Amino acid sequence: MTTFNDFLTNAKSAAKSAEQKITDCYDLTKLKITKSKIQSEINNKFEELGKKYYDMAKSGEEADFTADIDSIDDLKEELNNIDIQIATAKNMKSCPVCAQLVDKDANFCSSCGNKF
Ligand SMILES: [Zn+2]
Repeated sequence: MTTFNDFLTNAKSAAKSAEQKITDCYDLTKLKITKSKIQSEINNKFEELGKKYYDMAKSGEEADFTADIDSIDDLKEELNNIDIQIATAKNMKSCPVCAQLVDKDANFCSSCGNKF
């Protein structure tokens, strides 16, 4: 027999799981926003790099690109971390070789065939 207390317990746990789903969705949205911000930052860096190279070629003066390349690499690493977090939030994993999102339980990457 279902008592009123059982009913309350079930209602509470249903509410809690709905709340968890909303939190997961919210996290995923936040991660996707962060990802697109980083992507546009990378594009800006590439644009700067292109302009710097253009100026160098035009003026004939040597320019140092090390810092620019390093900051792009840092952003790419950040992007990788975000991909991993998104994969975790979606209950998936990111292939360490090609970054393809695959099911958490997959044994092979569906994109490059990498074995996990
Ligand atoms: Zn792969």
